[in-house]
Amino acid sequence: MPLLTLKEALQFSVDQRYAVGAFNIANYVMAEGVIRAAEEKGLPVIINIAEVHFQILDMDNFMHYLLDRVHRSPAPMVIHLDHGYTYENIIKAIHYGFTSVMFDGSKLPYKENVARTREIVRIAHAAGVSVEAELGHVAGLEGEPGSANEADTSAFTEPEEAERFVKETGIDALAVSIGTVHGVYKDEPRLDFARLKEIRKRVDIPLVLHGGTGLSREDFRKVIASGINKINFFTGNSVSAVEAVRKELSDKERYIDLPELILIAQRKVKEVTMEQMEIFRTRPLAEQDKE
Ligand SMILES: [Zn+2]
Repeated sequence: MPLLTLKEALQFSVDQRYAVGAFNIANYVMAEGVIRAAEEKGLPVIINIAEVHFQILDMDNFMHYLLDRVHRSPAPMVIHLDHGYTYENIIKAIHYGFTSVMFDGSKLPYKENVARTREIVRIAHAAGVSVEAELGHVAGLEGEPGSANEADTSAFTEPEEAERFVKETGIDALAVSIGTVHGVYKDEPRLDFARLKEIRKRVDIPLVLHGGTGLSREDFRKVIASGINKINFFTGNSVSAVEAVRKELSDKERYIDLPELILIAQRKVKEVTMEQMEIFRTRPLAEQDKE
């Protein structure tokens, strides 16, 4: 089926209080795991590709596979650029056929973040592509599952500023900082639900949670009830797949060949993705506008 934009995939999520998972992929194995999960569940999914993974993926070749794969699939999908930092890579993503891009200006001063986000919105919208931006900063680096991080409360999103930022930029989704981190948590995550609810009251576009791995089912239930509509998830898939492979190698004396080993990783990504879709209360496209 044709690709969805992020805006289309999330259009009923604010009113109906559910979230769609944005699962990071950095190779064919992860891509197949995520796509097959969407196909088996019949649920929409956001395929996240981070700018830092462009090099590993060899994008020119990879995008031929991915676009062909998603177009022939019955599952509704978005191809989304995760953490785009440079103008060049965001334009490249639009050129590749992404239907959504994130511009991450979260480390810039407010005014510069607004100015650069606005410019990206103007270009992306002209090409029919959605834009996510970040205000406040979520700690830790995307794509480094080995590092342990803790949230910086001084970089949490200010609700009043969020309202202004959305009006001034015209973005389609806003990533907020309320206590999650990228990668692995150093201590128990402590989420600022009151802040999230306040942002939700002031902002009517979908809200995005980065650093989904490490939260409990109860945390996920509460963030979704408090207004989160897109949840980024990478480390959990990566760690679970590696653990599954490690277990298989240590359990068995017998010879395992490479295709079999890779399938173990792929099946694990699919299984974890399907579990997360349930937890996120993602709804089938056909049912989303009924209520
Ligand atoms: Zn992120």
